[in-house]
Amino acid sequence: MSACVDTLGRGLSDVRISVTDRCNFRCPYCMPADLFGESYSFLPRPELLSYEEIARLVGILASLGVSKARITGGEPLVRADLGDLIGRLAAIDGIDDIALTTNGALLAQQATRLAKAGLHRVTVSLDSLDPVIFQRMNGDRGKLKDVLAGITAAVEAGLSPIKVNCVVVRDMNDDSFENIAEHFRGTEVELRFIEYMDVGTRNGWEMEQVVTASEILERLAARWPLEPLERRSPSEVAGRYRYTDGKGTVGVVSSVTAPFCGACTRARLTTNGRLVNCLFAEGGVDLKGPLRSGADDRELTDIILASWRARDDRYSELRTQATSGDSPPRRRMEMYQLGG
Ligand code: SAM
Ligand code: SF4
Ligand code: SF4
Repeated sequence: MSACVDTLGRGLSDVRISVTDRCNFRCPYCMPADLFGESYSFLPRPELLSYEEIARLVGILASLGVSKARITGGEPLVRADLGDLIGRLAAIDGIDDIALTTNGALLAQQATRLAKAGLHRVTVSLDSLDPVIFQRMNGDRGKLKDVLAGITAAVEAGLSPIKVNCVVVRDMNDDSFENIAEHFRGTEVELRFIEYMDVGTRNGWEMEQVVTASEILERLAARWPLEPLERRSPSEVAGRYRYTDGKGTVGVVSSVTAPFCGACTRARLTTNGRLVNCLFAEGGVDLKGPLRSGADDRELTDIILASWRARDDRYSELRTQATSGDSPPRRRMEMYQLGG
């Protein structure tokens, strides 16, 4: 392990890269359709890091101990030729795990090519199997059959283990999440239910909308008895459970009610080239400016090291400890900029 350790003793081992702020969906908990309409101004192309620039920064992060890279967004599959970036990341010494998080709508067309380029794993977000609720959960933009075809294509392309993420929001999709569990039980897909988080300022998050991991588990266990499993690694964010009838496993990510800041070893590279050390950080440090004005690898390494060594973020723990009257202030960056 490198000397890249933050003030709370956490190393830096993985990076999430938001390759675009654009998206073909408008999930109400991330990019509500009424705020992100046709005239919304996304970042102009020159503001985005190029694939070459991303690969250079990931190379530097790898020299500091990062071994896992996750490509996300916005919707990463709307950015052209993602295989090019994956090929570049796969060629970096030290990067041994390349994953993608996608809404799945464009995955069926691209899965084989991405796997050939060097992608190892894929996570598909899917919030309901009820076509009406599915439409509600994506701002009426995507088709359920395309996402399901994307998951099948990912399985066929060997992008395993395939994970499916379902964010559960009270009064939006909470009356039918058991159907998703039923659908994926006994398959090679690992399903994870995620608590709705208070990231950003545009989704109108309220604690009452959070369906807690314990409620989710209780409802699942009432249908199919469950047994807890050991975490596979200290930085694994999902609590995992085994169906006692042998039909596989299911996970819950309790980011709100039982946060895991103490094991958070993840940095984020935003769409516009900033290094952000926490989902709730206020803006991070600029890497694109120095990179484009000729900084060498040593200088970029020093910026990253200084930022990580000063890191003391543990927002979710503080929010959980706070009483409802004095919770930490909501921060400014949005999920689609940070890459989830
Ligand atoms: N567009 C891709 C997708 O939806 O998978 C990748 C980007 S999206 C920001 C990454 C993940 O963040 C998705 O699984 C999404 O469901 C999750 N997400 C977005 N906003 C969230 C929120 N407020 N709370 C919990 N999860 C959220
Ligand atoms: Fe798009 Fe993903 Fe955000 Fe939904 S969660 S709006 S698919 S970036
Ligand atoms: Fe990591 Fe920040 Fe989330 Fe805590 S709140 S787990 S430090 S991203």
